[in-house]
Amino acid sequence: MKLLRGGRIQASGDAPIERRDILIDERGYIAALLAPGEPIPGGMPPDSGIPFDREVPSRAGSPAASAQRRGTELITIDLADRLVVPGLVDAHQHLDKSHTLREVPNPQGTLDGAIAAFADYATRLTREDVIAHAERTLRACSARGTVAIRSHANIDPECGLRNAEALIELRARWQDRIRLQVVAFITSGAINNPKGKGWLDDALAMGADVVGGTPTRAHDVDAFLDMLFDASQRFGRPIDVHMDEHLDVNAVHFDALADRTLALGMQGKVVASHSSVLSALAPDEANRIIDRLAHAGIGVITLPAANLFLQGRHADRLPPRGLTRVNELAHAGVTVACASDNIRDPFVPTGSGDMLEIARWTVLAAHLGSKDLGRAFDMACGNPARLLRIDAEHGLKVGARADLLITKAEDAADLVAGGALERCVLVGGDAVGGHLI
Ligand SMILES: [Zn+2]
Repeated sequence: MKLLRGGRIQASGDAPIERRDILIDERGYIAALLAPGEPIPGGMPPDSGIPFDREVPSRAGSPAASAQRRGTELITIDLADRLVVPGLVDAHQHLDKSHTLREVPNPQGTLDGAIAAFADYATRLTREDVIAHAERTLRACSARGTVAIRSHANIDPECGLRNAEALIELRARWQDRIRLQVVAFITSGAINNPKGKGWLDDALAMGADVVGGTPTRAHDVDAFLDMLFDASQRFGRPIDVHMDEHLDVNAVHFDALADRTLALGMQGKVVASHSSVLSALAPDEANRIIDRLAHAGIGVITLPAANLFLQGRHADRLPPRGLTRVNELAHAGVTVACASDNIRDPFVPTGSGDMLEIARWTVLAAHLGSKDLGRAFDMACGNPARLLRIDAEHGLKVGARADLLITKAEDAADLVAGGALERCVLVGGDAVGGHLI
């Protein structure tokens, strides 16, 4: 067992900071949150403690001090007043595309330009390429504090099931560092293809965790949504759609999504990513839809990087931001997360894998308030954990896995505002990324 002693813990962005010692059991789960000086359950005596800046027992290699303590019942690590928050969660990525920008330029900077460029490149893309690019991103995300990622995997005539296979392999390879969920993502290349349904079924049968797709790019949006919900029902998987990635008020399909979600009792199991067009609708109509999303238990993921880069390029003045109505959704009770989306590919040329940076962009791009930094932190932590349905095992609470981010920050708002010079990331109580000096 391990005891993280002498730290300050903050369970969510707006939660109070408490002084608690974190007891972690042999499985890597939080067994107790103890007040300073509170006896350890079972009467286990703590040892003299390992200074945190000298060593955190890690899975990658056990330094000397850990080796000496092998066989002792309890390893105590002195956090020296550091802040402990739950590990970050990135609810929407495209690991199969990340770090392809050099090979796949998108000179127009538009969504159509990116889709066309990637479709051409995808015919030459190998499974090994996907794995190599994705692992570069996974390492960066892990070092910056991300402990869970939901990634879409293109399924289309160019990629077939290759990308989904690669990400499913990575899910197993990285299971002790990042919880990876793979979305079977029927893209615009497959959406109007009669073989699309078969590809979707094959990806789910292969083990993809989530049903995904781009309904607004289908000839028949209703039929496409029916296909997704039908697959979801047959395979028992949740749904995460790229609801829209446009600002065309003549292509609004939230009611169709809410109708099916309610009719099939899928509240809490459906996510609408992007939902950009809400920002283009008149407030009354936007609010009517937002209330329906709240009633249907549909979550929303805002993706500021892609929206800021891709949307509004045709405006000759005052280009729109392209983000959904984050404030209104949150106030209506919709679970809202922010996420990275694309990282250094034809869709978005930037990206570090740092969810604190994405939370920061969300504050600025979505016009959150100056006191909403804690709320933005939750959009990169607890909220996406709920949308990924891993919240029972995530967080700073007894029974959750000890997937934690440890820094010298003042609090979660400080992390959103300015990041942290050093970070240490624990998964299952073991150090897996970053370090503190
Ligand atoms: Zn996306």
